[in-house]
Amino acid sequence: MAWTLDDGFSLPAMKAYVNLLQDHDHLKMTMFVLQEAPAWKALAKPITELVNAGRVQLGNHTWQHKSLTGLSDAHIKEQLTHCGKFIEDTFGVSAGTYFRPPYGNIDSRVINVAREVGYTTPVLWLGSTGAGDKESVAGNWKMCQKWMHDGRIVIDHSNSDVTVHNFAKVLGLLKSRNLTTVTLQDVFGNGLR
Ligand SMILES: [Zn+2]
Repeated sequence: MAWTLDDGFSLPAMKAYVNLLQDHDHLKMTMFVLQEAPAWKALAKPITELVNAGRVQLGNHTWQHKSLTGLSDAHIKEQLTHCGKFIEDTFGVSAGTYFRPPYGNIDSRVINVAREVGYTTPVLWLGSTGAGDKESVAGNWKMCQKWMHDGRIVIDHSNSDVTVHNFAKVLGLLKSRNLTTVTLQDVFGNGLR
C-alpha cells in the first residue's frame, strides 16, 4: 500500500508524520510537496534524512495549489517548475517525473503541458483518509479501515491532526492486514529524467 501525504498546512501534523516515520523504520511514504506550505522548509532536515534513507519519496504538488485545469499552459508550467526547483533546493533531490495535481483536477491538456516540463507521471489515488475534507477523527478511522488495502494508493493530508490521532490504530490495521507500505518509486520506478 502506498501511503501518500499532501499539502503540509499544519506544521504540528507534519512533525507528527516525521516522528512516526522516525519511530517505525518499516514505514514508507510518498509526500507531495506543496511549495507554499511553510512546514516543508521548517522540516527540511529530518525529511531530507528520511529521503536519503529511502523511506520517503518526494513528489511535486505545485507551487500554490491552484486547479491546473483552469490555468494557461504557461502558468501550469510555472506551478510545476517553481515547486520542482524548491524541492531540489530544499531537499537536494529531484521529484523526478512524479506530480499530483491539486484537487485531482487533470485533463489531457494538463497532462501534455506537464509532460513538456518533464512531469510525465501524474498520480491520483484509490482511497482517502478524508483528512483533506475536514473528516472527524472517528470518520478518518472509518476511511482508513475502508481504503487501506493491498495495492491501493491512499491519499492523506497533513493539514490537521485527524490522522495523527489515529496513528496507533492505523499501525495496528496495517499489521493485522499484513500490509507493507511502499513509495511510488518502489513500484513504478524512480522517474528520473
Ligand atoms: Zn493538495
